[in-house]
Amino acid sequence: MSALAKNYNRRKIAFKRGKGSYLYSINGKKYLDFVQGIAVNSLGHANPYLIRAINKQAKKVWHVSNAFIIPEAEKLAKKLTKKTFAESVIFQNSGAEAIEAAIKIVRRYFYLKGQPKKNRILCVKNSFHGRTLATIYASGSKKMTEGFGPKVSGFDHFQFGNYLSLKNAITNKTAAIMMEPIMGEGGIKVVPEWFLKAVRKICNQKKILLILDEVQCGVGRSGKFFAFEHSKIKSDIVPIAKGIGGGFPIGAVLMTKKVASCMTAGTHGSTFGGNPLAMSAGNAVLDQIFKKGFLKNVQKNSDFFNKELNKIKKDYPKIIKDVRGKGLLIGLKLFHDQSKFIKKLEYNRLLTIRASENTVRILPPLNVKKSEINIAIQIIRKVCKEYK
Ligand SMILES: *Cc1c(COP(=O)(O)O)cnc(C)c1O
Repeated sequence: MSALAKNYNRRKIAFKRGKGSYLYSINGKKYLDFVQGIAVNSLGHANPYLIRAINKQAKKVWHVSNAFIIPEAEKLAKKLTKKTFAESVIFQNSGAEAIEAAIKIVRRYFYLKGQPKKNRILCVKNSFHGRTLATIYASGSKKMTEGFGPKVSGFDHFQFGNYLSLKNAITNKTAAIMMEPIMGEGGIKVVPEWFLKAVRKICNQKKILLILDEVQCGVGRSGKFFAFEHSKIKSDIVPIAKGIGGGFPIGAVLMTKKVASCMTAGTHGSTFGGNPLAMSAGNAVLDQIFKKGFLKNVQKNSDFFNKELNKIKKDYPKIIKDVRGKGLLIGLKLFHDQSKFIKKLEYNRLLTIRASENTVRILPPLNVKKSEINIAIQIIRKVCKEYK
């Protein structure tokens, strides 16, 4: 009997170690891991460069309070601002915390502008922004909020991809629009470029802040550092997490100087957020991702993977409905429930994970080898062939 609470539906499999794209189970089986902790291990398992960086830092200092200057955090924030739209960063420990901070920033921003009633955030209905009280109500999903009242107020919703629904939901109390450029949990649904451009435009017109949740699709996952960069727009606030620590828990809110100016001393804090050990992991991950050609290679591998998956779709049009996603954030939308398909992939030693809308989510490490993608393709084709 497990002493852990039953809030997860765990698969009956445990691992003793990992290396790159592979995981080794305690029963001695080798799996190609295209889950990677749900887009967390950007550089795969046991990456030597990451191990060295963490080891080196572990011998110096793990944790100091944010009451002091933390050079490792300064360094990571510099890297992030140098390469992106952002001019200022707040570090947290998880995605939901980064979203919570973003919500606080938006409210505080308009409060200081003398518009305290402009405090509502417009989100996509049935989106995913985390599991804290505020973030489940931001998601607006019945399944996630049931039994957890009283409701955290301040969130309105519009239908995914429906511009009229978005426009009609905006009031003079709307302070921000928050959305994922690519919905991860929601089924790897890419927001079209025209839609993101239109959202940016209406935000400018109505003096609304834009929060783009890049917790899953950010940090190189889409083939660009941020997924929204594909549509050449800019955001005001961008929460990130998952991929930035390469397996070490880090969350962060990136923002413009204008927005950041409202977060004066004492307005927000975190005991662990931005500690030296976590920051050493983040710095090491970015050293690799910002290397010349790294993201080009993600795009190249993505194109190859995508082309091969579409060939399988063409050969099995009754099983695969759609190949979705960008970069190495890939979704196979099936005609039927995806759990049996995922189980069969696992039986053939390929690990994938579900997302909404009958979607099989495929998340290789960003430094995956083409030969490993080829193995996955063969397994997916085999499962389609034997699928009944
Ligand atoms: C995973 C995720 C979160 C929540 O991150 P946690 O670290 O689990 O709190 C928020 N937004 C998106 C888009 C996510 O994929």
